[in-house]
Amino acid sequence: RDDLRKIQRLISEPYTLDQEEFHLTSSIGVALYPQDGTTSEELIRHADMAMYKAKSMERGIVFYYEEHSNQVSREMLLEQLLHKAVVDEEFDLHYQPKVDILTEKMTGTEALIRWNHPELGNISPAEFIPVAERSRLIIPLGNWVLKKAVEQNAKWYRESGQSLIIAVNVSPVQLKQSSFVNNLAKTIQETGMPPELLELEITERVAIDYGTELLDKLQSLQRMGVKISLDDFGTGYSSLNYLRSFGMDTLKIDRIFVCDYSKDHEEKSLIPGIIAIGHALGMKVIAEGVESREQVEFLRAKGCDAVQGFVYSRPLPAAELEKLFDKKLTG
Ligand code: C2E
Ligand code: MG
Ligand code: MG
Repeated sequence: RDDLRKIQRLISEPYTLDQEEFHLTSSIGVALYPQDGTTSEELIRHADMAMYKAKSMERGIVFYYEEHSNQVSREMLLEQLLHKAVVDEEFDLHYQPKVDILTEKMTGTEALIRWNHPELGNISPAEFIPVAERSRLIIPLGNWVLKKAVEQNAKWYRESGQSLIIAVNVSPVQLKQSSFVNNLAKTIQETGMPPELLELEITERVAIDYGTELLDKLQSLQRMGVKISLDDFGTGYSSLNYLRSFGMDTLKIDRIFVCDYSKDHEEKSLIPGIIAIGHALGMKVIAEGVESREQVEFLRAKGCDAVQGFVYSRPLPAAELEKLFDKKLTG
């Protein structure tokens, strides 16, 4: 470590160029042979990962093995806490509006799980859902989400006269369970919500790991009236031919394609192409992660059907979402 610091010190010494003084800072990632890798490619890849970590944390020097073992212990910690959290129901759902691009009215919501841990604070689903999937805790957790979301939507239907479509994210681990379809049918029946008001969001990942068996399941769900939406489109690897055989209802353009849209380089955007593919496959198209008015205008001009994103609303607790009922939303 001392030698590494010496290198950093040498790099950081000021130097002059055209009478101006410059400083360089550096980030170092370290991978050691043999414990971090036995081939040069593996060592370079791990050193690179450590370097990115060093850059992002502004820590200067990061050893691959330290980070790696930290990650493992963070995962073990989360898994332990999740067990308890599932039993104690430390979770909550927030709802984000999905907005019709022409009328600017809310046609549905997406239920997004929130975990507020008494000591660790808010933990992002992007972090704990993968842990829940690997430990299979996603099964009880996912059942809780489905039940809670359908109950809430049934309540809005009965008591507020709203026919909103509630979208729920489901993991491949949940879908693989043989009882999934029956359990879901039971939940819907118990709440009395019309099945047409439920949409399941699945990612391309599901289609890849799961293959044709999935087709039967999706079809029985669709026969019940439940809609299927393909989340994060454009970030997975499924073939278009494969997608065509699934006959899903909605395609969600991943926010990455929305983020990288710029008015000055419209011609570089993949959005019009993705919308055309969705429509050619007979799907409705929604864009997620929409943050600006400019993005809404572009999506509308290109024929996108619906929009979800901070421009209209962040995900909100149920009581806050109710304030948006029957309103024309302004982005
Ligand atoms: P997702 O299904 O693609 O959900 C969209 C994510 O984008 C949400 O993050 C949402 O808060 C965020 N978002 C919405 N609008 C904007 C925007 O305008 N700008 C930006 N930057 N972000 C926006 P969140 O809630 O952190 O969820 C992350 C992911 O975790 C979700 O991605 C989904 O894959 C997963 N997830 C969330 N809840 C559940 C759940 O109940 N079950 C399962 N299996 N996965 C869930
Ligand atoms: Mg989603
Ligand atoms: Mg998504």
